[in-house]
Amino acid sequence: MDYQKIIDTIHEDLRYHDVFGEVASYIPELAKVDPKKFGMHLYKGVNENYSFGDSTEKFSIQSISKVFTLSIAMKLLGEDLWERVDVEPSGDPFNSLTQLEYESGVPRNPFINSGALVIADILVSNLKDPKKELLEFVRKISGDNAIDYDYKVAESEKSTGYRNYALVNYMKALGNIKNDVEPIVDFYFHQCSLAMSCEELAKAFMLFANNGKILGTGEKILSPTKIKRINALMQTCGFYDEAGEFSFEVGLPGKSGVGGGIVAIHPEQYSVAVWSPILNKKGNSELGMAALEKLTTMTGLSIF
Ligand code: GLU
Repeated sequence: MDYQKIIDTIHEDLRYHDVFGEVASYIPELAKVDPKKFGMHLYKGVNENYSFGDSTEKFSIQSISKVFTLSIAMKLLGEDLWERVDVEPSGDPFNSLTQLEYESGVPRNPFINSGALVIADILVSNLKDPKKELLEFVRKISGDNAIDYDYKVAESEKSTGYRNYALVNYMKALGNIKNDVEPIVDFYFHQCSLAMSCEELAKAFMLFANNGKILGTGEKILSPTKIKRINALMQTCGFYDEAGEFSFEVGLPGKSGVGGGIVAIHPEQYSVAVWSPILNKKGNSELGMAALEKLTTMTGLSIF
């Protein structure tokens, strides 16, 4: 398979494509990003890397970070984790408050904001320095010690993060939050501000394509059962209330973020990250989704 040729064709087909959505602006710092940015990186092996465009430029990974924090929480709590957060698609927007009311403060899944905030609460309870340990985890799995938070983005989100404060307060009232609100949202805003390129994300997500083994040393840091569960959650809940559409079009487990990034994996084959900041109405990168649809159609390979 000539992956570079396929990747180049995707670039050519989509670079001048009309996109009608908008860059996320509810986090002021994200509104400053150049909407024309477009990059993709596919990691298949040490000497099999394929990319185009702005694939080495760092962007705000936002909700993609929820896969990293879920992985750490699963290592810490094992199956007990599922008493605090469910594993069903929400069918509601990622920042919705309504479901929580009739489901007694237990979020539908770890990838909507309420679920990620419960995970943040768990990490605040169990780790001495959660921000430092998350960074160490991400640096380790991607083999890149330069990865860091974008403190301006974290500060910017904090200044407008009323809904996330509301979600934590509400779940605290319903008994599903153990710590004070402030350390939880502080950790959450920082995890969302992680700045990574498509290349770095593709490398980090090889953990999930490689059955729990990290690149380089091959050290196994997640069991096959945990990998199965994380990949299943990406498949069913990774794209807000558009998870069905992503599955239908692309047919791979993945996760998106409002920074315009999407990562997807083909188990035992490759990991691929794409970035284009213009979002569709559901909050997913418009060109990113189109690029991944072309990838699985042109290669003729998906998990289905
Ligand atoms: N930091 C964003 C928020 O909480 C993350 C949203 C996303 O990427 O889904 O609203």
